[in-house]
Amino acid sequence: MFGWKQGTGTHRRRRRRDEGEGMSDGHPVYRQQRNADEERAARRDAAVRAAVEQGLLGPGSPLVGLLDVTGIRQAAARLRQAFADVTAPGTPVLHAFAVKATPLVPVLRLLAEEGIGAEVASPGELALARAAGVPAEATVLDSPAKTTAELREALALGIAVNADNPQELARLDALVGSSVPRSPLGIRVNPQVGGGSIEALSTATATSKFGVALRDEGAREWVVKAFLDRPWLTRLHAHTGSQGIPLPRLAQGIAETYRLAEEINERAGRRQIDTLDIGGGLPVNFAGEETVPTYAAYARLLAETVPGLFDGRYGLVTEFGRSLLAKQGTLLTRVEYTKTAGGRPVAVTHAGVQVATRTVYAPQSWPLRLAAYDAEGRPKPGPEAVQDIAGPACFAGDLLAEARSLALLEPGDVVAALDTGAYYFAHHYAYNSLPRPAVYGYLPDGRGGIAFATVREAQTVEEIVTEAGAAHATALTSLKLP
Ligand SMILES: *Cc1c(COP(=O)(O)O)cnc(C)c1O
Repeated sequence: MFGWKQGTGTHRRRRRRDEGEGMSDGHPVYRQQRNADEERAARRDAAVRAAVEQGLLGPGSPLVGLLDVTGIRQAAARLRQAFADVTAPGTPVLHAFAVKATPLVPVLRLLAEEGIGAEVASPGELALARAAGVPAEATVLDSPAKTTAELREALALGIAVNADNPQELARLDALVGSSVPRSPLGIRVNPQVGGGSIEALSTATATSKFGVALRDEGAREWVVKAFLDRPWLTRLHAHTGSQGIPLPRLAQGIAETYRLAEEINERAGRRQIDTLDIGGGLPVNFAGEETVPTYAAYARLLAETVPGLFDGRYGLVTEFGRSLLAKQGTLLTRVEYTKTAGGRPVAVTHAGVQVATRTVYAPQSWPLRLAAYDAEGRPKPGPEAVQDIAGPACFAGDLLAEARSLALLEPGDVVAALDTGAYYFAHHYAYNSLPRPAVYGYLPDGRGGIAFATVREAQTVEEIVTEAGAAHATALTSLKLP
């Protein structure tokens, strides 16, 4: 199931430059990606229609998440191919999916079948990866707040751990003792190359909370010494940013990390660091259907910026999240009511802050593409009108989109929020006690139909009541001072 041990590198270095600026030229790589993007959009339309026809979406279930199984498999394959194309034959490459992007067991299982491991950052995420059958050697633990118990469990399982800071490294010292750890162990560094357009997601600013801040006084030397003192430290890790960071800056962060690894190995007089974990962070195009930038473009940019990273001397770990899943997910909601306010049409739907938290609270940073369908799930023809698409939560700002031009919506119509496969419907926010929606995976059956599989059931009202402390209903009224 997992192929990175064999090393699938073909060492075909393409000399072409970045394709990140658009898909306008006729090169086969672009054409292939464009066709795949068009096919994904067609599968999505078919799935919307089928979800309505088969009753997954309806008056009693006005909000569902959909995942494109074909799209997930293709994204995983493109990721593997992109790095295989630039690495020396035999180079071990582990692509560990950042579980936080889509923490759903069947998704992790599907990715595992496609040769993708798991990057986890909490006991919950580790448990999800294990429930999905992701083996220990394909799992990486990265959280900035690991407890001693978590570290002990990871070491017992043989899971790779990247220590975030000197205090965590001291805990590892105590746990490792004089033994030789089974787990590959490393240190996370912050190359401090600067942030991107979204402050909250910029992990490599001067004051980011993650990793050892390399440019701080004495920090670099501390890292070097930490390695020289501990023969069991064999990895260096950096995750330089997420959505909003320019690719050259991502590459620069990785180049800095590579240079540090070279320095450490030089001073150690041996190849002590054998693996570099380059994190995730490839941005997603939320403005259109095209998959840009592609993994292929990013891998080639890295190969040009840091050629030594790919010559076979280092094993590689990647931790992509959003770029693997975002475009494979669609949030579907029924329009419950329509009205006008201040002259502007408003469509009230069931998708709001509970499933699109970032978009609702930070609409400038996280705009979502929306698509309108009629009550039968067919793409709704115009004429378009400028309207607000609102969610169900009880505050005025609960809008999926403000002043958006879409076919004028009517009650019973369906609205799709596109590119929501990562950090959206899998990231429920329990405002107004709104239930977590069901999630289904879809696959064209080859005869014009669509087959669905349940990925996650909808949360029931009973479950909401239970989780809200129903078993402790009298806890506060019966609390008395002794
Ligand atoms: C969030 C995170 C990732 C994944 O980031 P994406 O932008 O979703 O690719 C990878 N590594 C670490 C350490 C992270 O915190």
